[in-house]
Amino acid sequence: MHLPSESFTPIREVGEFGLIERLRDTLGLTLDTVPDELIQGIGDDAAVYRVGEGRVHVVTTDALVEGVHFDRTFVPMRYLGWKAIAVNVSDVAAMNARPRYATVALALPNNVSVEQAEALYGGIAEACARYDLALVGGDVTAAARLTLSVTVIGEAAEHSVVYRRGARPGDLLCVTGDLGSAAAGLRVLLAGKQRLDASSNGEAGESSPPNLSEFAYAAERQLYPQARLDRVRHWAERGVKPHALIDISDGLASEVHHLCRAGSVGAVIEAGLLPIHVQTFKAAEHFGESPLAFALYGGEDYELLFALPEAEREKLDESTYAVVGQVVEADAGVTLRTPEGEVVSLDAQGFAHF
Ligand SMILES: [Mg+2]
Repeated sequence: MHLPSESFTPIREVGEFGLIERLRDTLGLTLDTVPDELIQGIGDDAAVYRVGEGRVHVVTTDALVEGVHFDRTFVPMRYLGWKAIAVNVSDVAAMNARPRYATVALALPNNVSVEQAEALYGGIAEACARYDLALVGGDVTAAARLTLSVTVIGEAAEHSVVYRRGARPGDLLCVTGDLGSAAAGLRVLLAGKQRLDASSNGEAGESSPPNLSEFAYAAERQLYPQARLDRVRHWAERGVKPHALIDISDGLASEVHHLCRAGSVGAVIEAGLLPIHVQTFKAAEHFGESPLAFALYGGEDYELLFALPEAEREKLDESTYAVVGQVVEADAGVTLRTPEGEVVSLDAQGFAHF
């Protein structure tokens, strides 16, 4: 055992992904220490290992922490429980697999009541029923902040799993659903909270706060995200297997960079092709921001980004995806073609929790 090091590097200096890399190095995983059955360890949406007869399990884990991932003043407990399951199911969908089992570790501060904990579990139960997975274990402990840590185990045929790597130049880059509405919803909810805080302090607050009823879709996207297992099923029905796949949790730009790095390719994203909901445009206008920024950098959409061979395109129902760009050679980098036709470098600038 080594004594703690003298140096103190703040986590924000290396960022979330930099920290993951440092911790992976600390584990010192090498080919000798990894079991033969392991196909994919750290570095994709979920780990993948063989369980025999051509089948694999995929495993993913994610924590939601009060004050970092959610604000209890405007997130009802039931939604929180739902979201904790849905975001993990999204990572299973991002391997083209089907979720089977979940475990939940819940850390509760003493200002959470039994009834609130029940509501939380109501949301967990609803999500488990919707996504057809069994909650098979868990833990409850006391803590200073409400934290939900969920692990989901999924299953697939080994040959059907799709990884972040595998995109090839010429593939179409496609997304499900729309982009940026969850982030727009968060802005609207935060503005509503600030207005209430201001009025309870006797202040005027924002002069024209957004009318919540005009942003019901965006708010729901933030509070009640849907994992895209429907698309995974659609691909299976149509015999389509994307070359590469990732879920959009940190914003499209960040995920495109992950796919490109994993597959040693580049990409051109067409700003004019990004699917953006009318409420995202309205929220951007209200807050004086760019709808494009919401679509590229707003997190938590939990849609899927995938690289599709051009020839597979006609097999899919047109309404299930949008083409947003193309995979190119690595040396072309990751770029964005603006609506004006200008090609600019697209940086990853993700959703920074630290
Ligand atoms: Mg993911």
